[in-house]
Parts: sequence; C-alpha cells; structure tokens
Amino acid sequence: MTGAADPGYAAEMDAADELASFRERFVIEQGGPLYMDGNSLGRLPKATAGGVGDFITDEWGRDLVRGWSRWIDLCAEIGDLIALRLVGAAPGEVIVSDSTSVNLYKLAASALDLKPERSRIITDAANFPTDRYVLQGLAEQRGKKLDLLEFDPIDGPTAADLAPALDDDVAIVSFSHVDYRSGAIADMMAITDAVHRVGGLVIWDLCHSAGAVPVDLNDCDVDLAVGCTYKYLNAGPGAPAFLYVRGDLVDRLVQPIWGWFGHAAQFTMERDYLPAAGIRRFLVGTPSLLSIKGVETGVALMAEAGIGRFRAKSIALTEMIVALCEAWLAPLGFSLGSPRDPARRGSHVALRHPEAWRICRALIEKQNVIPDFREPDVIRFGVAPIYTSFTETWEAMDRLRQVVEQRTFEQFPAERNRIT
Ligand SMILES: *Cc1c(COP(=O)(O)O)cnc(C)c1O
Repeated sequence: MTGAADPGYAAEMDAADELASFRERFVIEQGGPLYMDGNSLGRLPKATAGGVGDFITDEWGRDLVRGWSRWIDLCAEIGDLIALRLVGAAPGEVIVSDSTSVNLYKLAASALDLKPERSRIITDAANFPTDRYVLQGLAEQRGKKLDLLEFDPIDGPTAADLAPALDDDVAIVSFSHVDYRSGAIADMMAITDAVHRVGGLVIWDLCHSAGAVPVDLNDCDVDLAVGCTYKYLNAGPGAPAFLYVRGDLVDRLVQPIWGWFGHAAQFTMERDYLPAAGIRRFLVGTPSLLSIKGVETGVALMAEAGIGRFRAKSIALTEMIVALCEAWLAPLGFSLGSPRDPARRGSHVALRHPEAWRICRALIEKQNVIPDFREPDVIRFGVAPIYTSFTETWEAMDRLRQVVEQRTFEQFPAERNRIT
C-alpha cells in the first residue's frame, strides 16, 4: 500500500471503494468543480432531478388535490426512515418538518414548558449562530437565562467541561453533535447523561451528523433533537428539516406553534386547538411537497448506502486530508483545526491558515475547487462518502498546495463576500 502523499494512493483507494458506484447516482458535471462542500449543500441525486419532474407532471399536474391522500403521510413516513436507518430512533419519534431553526424553537419552547420552575438554558458560545439566536430569543421572551459556555475551539463541548455549570436550575442543554467549524464529535452519551443527572433535558443538533456519522439517539437516551436534510442527506437547497422527540416525551410536550397540521382532527376544522397524539403534533402547516420529494430520495439513497459503510469511507477520506495537510500544508503555514483522532471527527476537516479567506477565494475562482470558509481563519473540506472520491479529494488538496506555493491567493481582496 502506498502512502497518502503518493500519486497512486487515491486511485488505489477508489478502486477498493465499495461505495464507488453511488457516485454515479449523482449529477456530476464532467470537468466540473472538485466539490468539497457537501457539508453545506449536498449534491443533486439523479433520481431527484427526475423524481421532482415526475411529481410535478404526474402527481401535481394530474392528481391535483386528490394527491393529498398520499402526500399527507409523507413527512411521517420519511421521518420513520430517518429514525430507523440514520439516527438510531424508533418509528413515531422523528418527523420531517419546517427548518432546523424553527424545529429548534418548537422543541426548546416545549421543553421549557415541561420544566417551568427551572430558569437556565445552556449552549456552546461557539455553536452555530441560528442555534444561539433561537435560544437567546426564547430566553428573553420567557425571562430565562442563557449561558453561553466556552469550550476548547477544536474539541468542542465535553461532559467534564460542562459539569461545573450544571445544577438543578438547568432546564435545557443544547449542543451540536458535530461542531460546524472544527468537525469535532461531542460525546452524546456522556453529556446527555450528565444533564439527566441534574434533571435537565438535552436537545442535540444533528445538522452535521445525519448522513455523516453514526447517531444512536435511543441508546444515548436523548430527549430531543433537530437536524437538516440539505447537507449530508442531499435533499436540496432549503429542503425541510427533521425533528426527534423520545417516545415517552412525545405526548407530554406541546409545541408553541398551534397550526392545523398538528391538530388531532385536522379536517374537522374544530374551534379549538387540540394537539394530535404522536409525533404529528410537532407539525405546523402545509409542507413544501416539491422539497419533500428531494428529502425522500436523499434519505432513501443514504439508507441504501448504509451508515457503517459510509462512516468507514468518511474516516479514510478525512485521514487522507489530515495526512496531506501534515505532508504538504503544514510547512506552508497551515494547522489542523479538527480533532486529530478520527473517532472524534465528523465528515469534514478544518484547515486553519492566517490567509484562509483569500486562499479559499483563489481555490474557487482559479482552481475549480469548492470548499468553504468560516470565520476567522478556517477552510472546511467536507467529504460526503456517498459521492466524494479519493481522487477528487487528493486533487483538491494538491490544488490547495499550489495556490499557496504560487501565492495565487494574493490577487484576491481581503474583504469578505456577503456569502462565505
Ligand atoms: C446548517 C445548520 C443549521 C441550519 O439551520 P436552518 O434553519 O436550516 O437554516 C442549523 N444548525 C446547525 C448546527 C447547522 O450546521
């Protein structure tokens, strides 16, 4: 076996890759960009391109409103598939709805209602902004206190670092399972357990986990979770998110947005709101069916590929990036912004460099490589094992090395674009 820095390595790994054939099930343009940003927006599955077209023509076009007799159950059916195949939950505990931000609001608000005597909400000061803002808004609206805790910027939250902040006034602790910047995987089991010992509830954000790393919500006794579908589940830009509520909590929580899709008898048009029994009570209004079709296809593809196989490939890909960083990039001023231990790392690698922004621009505009930039000095290289090849990843790293060696990035301004 050759080492990661040898030119033959990537081809060898691709030849041995059991998931290689899945790449053909995605729309990948010949000579198109080397795509290292599936952690932000997954690629388009071919079946979605066709499926959404067929849905429009055959179902919307021909069935018209009669289609609802089938469409009405889709959010729950796809939720069950996510539950069973991707996040270690049971049927009836997951449903597809709204956005991650809105789902976090719904779950956090209902969790606060379950613990009315408690006044504290804890999150990570480095958590994804929408998570912090949603919790901040809720804290202000309800007279609660939000604690933004500081953790190690690479390793993220740990049970040991959280412990001193826990007491019996904590209502909710909410973290991302995989850190959006460093890619660190939090110890879901230990943190959930520590929060339960003081009687609080946990809400995990699975945006960078679902379809990227194994998740076992039931095994970790997780109370609540949210996650998106347009990253590693390849459902399409803005596709609806999902939420999870542990079975025994489902009928004890009442979410704050009382829409008709969450009503016990949706079409009897009752005078008063009565939440549905079961996970449907977390729905609000009419779902976006065109996008839901993308979720259906994306989730089915991931379920077919199998979580065990894509975790093994994800580790091999990120290990290759880390090895190439050490061999080629460290001498050029890069450092690793992700955990070194693959067991603690999700499916992207953060590379840090003082000129990260300009290097990222040069990669996109001069080298046809698409990673993304995160403040202040991080370039993220996301690998989606279902379609990312070793050759593509190796080539992307090689072009990164060239951009820095040849100082191509110096042609680009230091000002940030509106979207990074
Ligand atoms: C991508 C991401 C989100 C996105 O939330 P939206 O409501 O879909 O915009 C939320 N949280 C985390 C941790 C994310 O990575």
